[in-house]
Amino acid sequence: MSRITYVNGAFVPEEEAKVSIFDRAFLMADGVYEVTTVIGGKLIDFPGHMARLKRSLGELRMAVPADEAELLAIHRELVSRNALNEGLIYLQVSRGVADRDFLFPPEGTPPGLVLFTQALPVLHRESVRRGLKVASMPDLRWARRDIKTVQLLYPSLAKTEAKAKGADDAWLVDDQGFVTEGSSNNAYIVKDDKVRTRELSHSLLHGITRAAVMSFAAAEGISFEERPFTIAEAKDADEAFITSASAFVTPVVSVDGAPVGTGEPGPVTKRLREIYITESLKRAV
Ligand code: PMP
Repeated sequence: MSRITYVNGAFVPEEEAKVSIFDRAFLMADGVYEVTTVIGGKLIDFPGHMARLKRSLGELRMAVPADEAELLAIHRELVSRNALNEGLIYLQVSRGVADRDFLFPPEGTPPGLVLFTQALPVLHRESVRRGLKVASMPDLRWARRDIKTVQLLYPSLAKTEAKAKGADDAWLVDDQGFVTEGSSNNAYIVKDDKVRTRELSHSLLHGITRAAVMSFAAAEGISFEERPFTIAEAKDADEAFITSASAFVTPVVSVDGAPVGTGEPGPVTKRLREIYITESLKRAV
């Protein structure tokens, strides 16, 4: 079924959704994005995604294309026009259309805004029952990974290489041997009932799901230690998992071919997934 998408002010069928070849996101990866999950036609963690979008735009001195209320209305219109029950909404802002130049285009160049929906199962996935296998790869991305840019070539290459090695995803490792995050998710280990994940910095994306899981877990008495871990520590952990808007909390059961704990999804991971789903659905808009 053809989707209705949103392109620079208009709702259009996907076949008619077109952007210029001079769009800065196309030529220079000069764009930022957000992905918001939809469950039961409602948006999960929407204010968090919009806050991070604003931050990404600010860090790159990009114009804000629409305020949060307008963006919420566009998201809701897309849910409604596509009868989207479960899936994702992808939003991308570009610096706009300008002659190819390393200098940013003149002030006042209108930003580009594109959104589309993707229907897919989120709540019930085979990966959650089975758990993911991850393979370590050097983190060769640029140094501002806290900004959610469309510059996704390296994460895409790393995930493809991980697949070629028989894994489901890549865990990226910095020069000191510490895991930064997954190709498109934040990474965690559990050891002696303590959940550990790397502290926020420019080295990794500040996951909206990460923040939500941590705050819901704290209310349940589960505390997180924000400290980096190595691949050796992950192999020696009792459990491991990832978080992202589309994966929620998904178990990781092996690292570089070595089983984590029992090699099955663990109880802390399962509990965190339940807590996240219950609490985030309560707050969905
Ligand atoms: N890290 C990276 C590199 C990502 O691409 C993502 C997914 N956007 C995440 C972490 C998880 O972020 P969120 O929970 O906001 O989806």
